[in-house]
Amino acid sequence: MENSKEMRTWLDDMGLDHPLVIAGPCSAETEEQVLRIAHELKDTDVNYYRAGIWKPRTRPGMFEGVGAIGLKWLKKVKEETGLKTATEVANRAHVDLALENDVDLLWIGARSTVSPFIMQEIADALEGTDKIVLVKNPVNPDLALWLGGIERLYTAGIKNLGAIHRGFSTYEKTKYRNIPEWQLAIEFQNKFPDLPLINDPSHITGKRDMIFDVSQTALDLNFDGLMIETHFDPDNAWSDAAQQVTPAKLVQIMRDLKIRKETNSEADYNAKLSNLRAQIDILDNQLLEAMGKRMKVSDGIGELKKQKNVAVLQSNRWNQILGAMILEGESKGLSEEFILKMFKAIHQESINHQEKIVNG
Ligand code: PEP
Ligand code: MN
Repeated sequence: MENSKEMRTWLDDMGLDHPLVIAGPCSAETEEQVLRIAHELKDTDVNYYRAGIWKPRTRPGMFEGVGAIGLKWLKKVKEETGLKTATEVANRAHVDLALENDVDLLWIGARSTVSPFIMQEIADALEGTDKIVLVKNPVNPDLALWLGGIERLYTAGIKNLGAIHRGFSTYEKTKYRNIPEWQLAIEFQNKFPDLPLINDPSHITGKRDMIFDVSQTALDLNFDGLMIETHFDPDNAWSDAAQQVTPAKLVQIMRDLKIRKETNSEADYNAKLSNLRAQIDILDNQLLEAMGKRMKVSDGIGELKKQKNVAVLQSNRWNQILGAMILEGESKGLSEEFILKMFKAIHQESINHQEKIVNG
C-alpha cells in the first residue's frame, strides 16, 4: 500500500527539518538530575524532554517513580530551557495531574495499551484535549490492541495523536530487550498512514550500543521520529541503566544518522529504495533466524538417531518434505527449480550437522 500522507498533523505544523526527537531520562530521579539533563539537551535537536514520573515496574519494591513532585521539576525544565515536556500517564489521576501541570505531550505505556479498561479510562480523562498523546505498542505483538487504543482516544475527540513503536516481549531470549517485529510497525503505518510514528530504540534494544542501528532502520522505514532515553550518568540511572546514553552520545547519534530531508523525485526514489531495502534486510534476518532454529531441531534429531543407531539419511522422509514444499512454494509464486535448489542446500547442511553428531 502507498504510504502517502494526506492529512496535516501536529508534527507537520512543527515544520521540523529533522525527525522529531524526544529525549531525557527513563525516570525523573531528583530535581537536580532532571534539570541537569535538560540543560545538557537544551541546544540540541531535541524537541520534547521526557522523564517518567510514575514508573510501571515488573515487581514491587523496585523504584516506582518520584510521583507528582516530578511534575514541578518538568515545569522548571520548561521555564529554564524552553524545552517542551513529556511524561507517561497510566490512569485518570495521572492524566488530571499532568494536564494541571501543563505537560505538553503525554504517552501511554506498553503495559497500559494492553488493557482496554485502562485505555478507556485514560481516553475519558483526556477527552477533548489538544495535548499531543502518543500510544506505545502493547507489550504483546497484537496489532488490534494497538489500533484499538488509538481508536479509543480518537473517539474521545483527541486529535493530536501519534504512536510509539517500542518492540514486543518474547519468552525466547533474543539480542533485543523487546523484539522489533518491524513488519507489525509497517502494518500499523499502512492502517494509519497519516499518524506520526515514533521509534523507541532504547526499549527495543535494552543496550545503548545497539541504539544507532535500530534508529537507522526506523528512519529507513519512514518513521517520523525517535524517543531515546538520555542521562548524564547512564550507568547509575535508577531505572533502565544499560540502555540510556549521555547527551553527548545522543548528539553524535543524531549527527551520524542518515536523514533524508529533500523532496525532489530523485530523493523520493532513494527514500522508496531505502524503505524496500530495509524491509528486505529484516526478512533476510528472519530467514537466517529460522534457518538457525531449523538446524537446532535437526541437531536434536541427530542425537536421537545416534542413540538408536539409525542412519542419518532417511530418503522417504526427505522425498515427502520436498513434494510438500514444491506445492507450497508454487502457491507462493516460487519455481520448482528454486525450491529444489534451496531445500537441497538446507538438507545438505542438516546432514552435515547430523553426521557430526552421530560420528562425533
Ligand atoms: C518508558 O518509556 O520509560 C517505559 C516505561 O516504556 P514502555 O512502556 O515502552 O516499557
Ligand atoms: Mn525506560
